[in-house]
Amino acid sequence: MNPIQLLLKNMSLSNFSIRQKLIGLVCLLTLGIITTSCLAFYFSYQDTLAGKKEQIRSVIQSASSQVQLLRQKNSSYEITDDEYQERLHDLIYGTSYAEDGYIYLIQQETRISLHPKRPDLEGTYLENIDNSANIEQMIKGFMQVKLNPDKAHYWLFRWPKPDGGPAIEKLTYAQLVPDSDLIIGTGIYLDDLTPLYTQRALSYVAITLVVLLAALSAALLISKNIVRPIISLSSHMKRLSNEDFDQTIEFTDHKDEIGQMARTLELFREHLIENKRLRHIQEHVQFLERFDPVTRLYNRRSMGESLEREIIRNFESQEKVYFLFIRLDLLRNLTIELGDEQRDQILVETANRLRNLLSLNHRLAKLSEGCFGLMLINKPHDIEIDTLIDSILDSIVQPIQLDHIQVQIVARIGVTSFPEDGDQQFELIGRAEIAAKTARKHEQSWLYFNRIKGQQTEPKMELWQDLSTAMDQDQFYLVFQPLFDLNKNTPLSAETLLRWNHPELGPISPAVFVPLAEKSGLISRLDNWVLNAVAKQCRQWIDQGISFPRVAINLSGISFLRNEFETKIYEIFERYAVPLHYIELELTEGVLIEDLARIQDKLKRVRETGISISIDDFGTGYSSLSRIKNLPVDHIKIDKSFIDDLDTNNQDLKIVQAIILMAQGLHLKVVAEGVETEHQLSILREAKCDIVQGYLLSRPLSVIDYEALLDEDLIIEGE
Ligand code: C2E
Ligand code: CA
Ligand code: CA
Repeated sequence: MNPIQLLLKNMSLSNFSIRQKLIGLVCLLTLGIITTSCLAFYFSYQDTLAGKKEQIRSVIQSASSQVQLLRQKNSSYEITDDEYQERLHDLIYGTSYAEDGYIYLIQQETRISLHPKRPDLEGTYLENIDNSANIEQMIKGFMQVKLNPDKAHYWLFRWPKPDGGPAIEKLTYAQLVPDSDLIIGTGIYLDDLTPLYTQRALSYVAITLVVLLAALSAALLISKNIVRPIISLSSHMKRLSNEDFDQTIEFTDHKDEIGQMARTLELFREHLIENKRLRHIQEHVQFLERFDPVTRLYNRRSMGESLEREIIRNFESQEKVYFLFIRLDLLRNLTIELGDEQRDQILVETANRLRNLLSLNHRLAKLSEGCFGLMLINKPHDIEIDTLIDSILDSIVQPIQLDHIQVQIVARIGVTSFPEDGDQQFELIGRAEIAAKTARKHEQSWLYFNRIKGQQTEPKMELWQDLSTAMDQDQFYLVFQPLFDLNKNTPLSAETLLRWNHPELGPISPAVFVPLAEKSGLISRLDNWVLNAVAKQCRQWIDQGISFPRVAINLSGISFLRNEFETKIYEIFERYAVPLHYIELELTEGVLIEDLARIQDKLKRVRETGISISIDDFGTGYSSLSRIKNLPVDHIKIDKSFIDDLDTNNQDLKIVQAIILMAQGLHLKVVAEGVETEHQLSILREAKCDIVQGYLLSRPLSVIDYEALLDEDLIIEGE
């Protein structure tokens, strides 16, 4: 880039701030106004001079023609020479105009003939007047008049004013009187024009100042109204881009484009704040997905992933990966005694101690309340593991100083290794946990899982593993327990109950495996299986022409609260072309602890499909009728535990009576479940309970038995 280009580039307007541009504009404006005023003054000066020149010329022309007339009259003897002289004298002496305006007459030989203001000079030759240099100028002018009589002659020379004083500049006009040797002339003293010009100049200056002042005020106003807001908004933007959101955007009340910009900026600021907030939440969620918030160690999921990666890496070589499950004894009891805060302090301190013992080949995580996990990679020798475990146990057992007291924590460690104890991360973690628990049971500080193999492991663990295969292998089936309407004495509906026929253990109660499925994340699959099985069963009954009452399904809260639940149940029953009004869902009170607005909305949407809702195990949870009053449900099932002692426990009787009364007020039907004796039934009948269910009326029935019951059209005996 050559210097000129560089200069041009630097001169580019965008390199200057708005304020600089405005100052530049004001300077240009000022310069323009002053230049215009000066030019106007100059032209006005020229015009005035031209006007004056024209004035003296017309005076002289008129006088000249009068002199010519006199001469003609004299030549034609109309007037005598004396009369001519007299009239000529009167004419020259009598013509005066403006202030100091007089004319004079000179003979061509430059002898002053008539001069009203200086009669003393009449008859004197110009060259004889005592003012040599100036006279020369004067004579030169008259000579020009003589030589070029057709041209208008103006020239300058100095001559005193009529009332005396020094000679001053005089603009002269003279011309030849035709057919004569006379030159007639006059002039204006330039001095006389000075006050006029001064006055005019002053007016121009005054006007210029006023215009300038107005222009500057306007510029100031514009600056205040445009430049200042723009500068302020631009500084707001700069601060926003630096994530400084704690500012009040000005000018949002302006009605013009500035206001629009300010309001948009304010909106932008709010968006940025919201974005930042969301980003923080997202970061926090991402953090929680991988880390434990208290100890800032990896969480169970991260540990599982790391283990999985190590297992895959070592799969070919079958090199060992060790896993240590470190369980702190009695932490729960300490929490109850000391509170959550002190428990967290213990966890943080323990985590720090563990961290100090680790090398690059270790990965530490907090798996659950009071349980840490440690993965050891790169085939450590057994002896090294023993020493590591000893130092871990030793460092944990050192007293921990809390705010007011000192506590001592004991840990148990369970050890598993790939490939011996499993090739899935959950196997290694789960079995190490069993080893840690067993160590505690046997009052050992640590234990290899393979040392307890063959010994009996926790039966639940086995079940848990069998549960998922059970679903694939059709080990489940449904039984139906009818519910009876006490008013009409007829079956009103049937509750489906799940059964698991374990190949080795025989039938297992849902009371055992449902909670297990909930814990192990299999419950949604299980619920899905039940929904499908019920839909399929209903289809069969419809096809066989069997008329059947509503079917109640026990559903876990986890499945019910899923976003896609409504669509899913709709799709399943649609697939079997079974109308949803056949279905009733039994939900436990736990589901209702959810956010009220959310659950209301959910229930409303589900009921809109034709499904009825029943609250199961009522009275055992945190829920109350006052809460249920706000929920769109159809039935409440009083928990079996209240019915059990109905005939012996007066308090239970009172509770049941109260529930029935209040439910009636809310137009809810009440079901009493687990009715086993005639006595219970008659008490319930007296308390005006609507619906009953229990072994007294019918045990849960297989499909065939239930179909037979429907065929019988069984009616329970009234009193
Ligand atoms: P629940 O919903 O309270 O079901 C009633 C339980 O009481 C059933 O036990 C039923 O057989 C039993 N029962 C009925 N009448 C009487 C009686 O007169 N006396 C006595 N002692 N018991 C009676 P079950 O079938 O073992 O079910 C236990 C629990 O398992 C159920 O409690 C329910 O919460 C859950 N469950 C059962 N089936 C399913 C299912 O398909 N899906 C889900 N998610 N949970 C299920
Ligand atoms: Ca139930
Ligand atoms: Ca129940």
